Amino acid sequence: MNAEQSRPVVVVNSRGASRLRAGHPWVYRSDVVNAEGAGPGSLVAVHTERRRPLGTALYSTASEIALRLVSSNTVEDLTKLVRERVRSAAEYRKKVVSGSDAYRVVFSEADELPGLIVDRYNDVLVVEALTQATDKPEFKQAAISELLEQLAPAGIVERTEPRIRQLEELPPSHGGLLYGDKTDTVYTMNGLCFQHRALAGQKTGAFLDQRENYAAAASYAHGEALDVFCYQGGFALHLARTCTQVTGVDSSRPALENAEANAALNPGLPEIEWIEANAFDLLRDYAAAGKQYDTIVLDPPAFARSRRALQTAMRGYKELNLRALKMLRPGGLLVTCSCSYHVSEGEFVEMLASAAADVHRLLRILEKRGQSKDHPSVLTIPETSYLKCVIAACK
Ligand code: SAH
Repeated sequence: MNAEQSRPVVVVNSRGASRLRAGHPWVYRSDVVNAEGAGPGSLVAVHTERRRPLGTALYSTASEIALRLVSSNTVEDLTKLVRERVRSAAEYRKKVVSGSDAYRVVFSEADELPGLIVDRYNDVLVVEALTQATDKPEFKQAAISELLEQLAPAGIVERTEPRIRQLEELPPSHGGLLYGDKTDTVYTMNGLCFQHRALAGQKTGAFLDQRENYAAAASYAHGEALDVFCYQGGFALHLARTCTQVTGVDSSRPALENAEANAALNPGLPEIEWIEANAFDLLRDYAAAGKQYDTIVLDPPAFARSRRALQTAMRGYKELNLRALKMLRPGGLLVTCSCSYHVSEGEFVEMLASAAADVHRLLRILEKRGQSKDHPSVLTIPETSYLKCVIAACK
């Protein structure tokens, strides 16, 4: 029996088939006609209702996304496929990443490895398996073997998110060391040093998707700067190289402690002031007190986690941007971001235009940017493009 004959077959309706043919790897459960015999995380053959083969996919018994296509052909050997994809992902990063030993090595669907994320922080890799299929030991082992060969890390750590495991009906797991013994390291990006402690309390890691935006923002930044939602200081440290004074604001104390430790790794930077506060309150108070800045960065968490939350999210973005615009000195720089996939670039820019009109400020776009190239945007998979970063000069 060949692989195709021994594999469970999942039949999808015409809507599911059209989606796959249009280059999107997902089939929702509502478009599955028959999945008899397909177990959690199994590799399945996908057919149309007329029994035409559409390819090979990873199946989930729990997620609304029932199928994630890995190939439009038959897959004989999953281990081989995973290793090839990891190798190709690592090779792609060699071409598109420069000036950093921290970047996303594998970005799920964008690397044809749906449900697998791998981040590199110098000699420590952080792996996250988001689906039943990628959580299987065989899958993870194949990925790890190839990562060892490609990147020779001193440690590989698994990160888990309880909410995602619950949705996939996976047993609770705390993750931990998968290989080697190193979990703490120092990495470099754009000539600055940052610490990464993969098993420390805060396991989110860094926002590597902003790496290129840090450098772009710093190239225009000047004067007194305010980094709102600064997390571990990604923007703030970069701004400190060109600004006279930098203040970082975040509501998370552990994030700020990390930011301070990061700043200490870079002697020669001017001192950065870190403030623990709710950004909305702080901006309101500062604006009322007439505080002014030359550079303001806004990088809030995703306000719109679903399309339904969009209106509330847009109000949040508008309020933040309005306040920031009011506080910018003439000639000031605004760097404003949204990582909500549900907010399109068009909607984001429209919000910004309306905020600029409300405060009667002339806002000139310098750059409309997205995520760094190690988080590739795939044209046929809109979900892979989520980050917006607008850099604008305020007259
Ligand atoms: N700019 C950062 C990433 C920001 S992530 C970087 O490049 O690394 C969003 C941050 O917003 C998180 O650190 C979170 O702690 C913080 N945050 C969330 N809600 C907040 C609020 N109401 N006020 C201030 N900070 C908040």
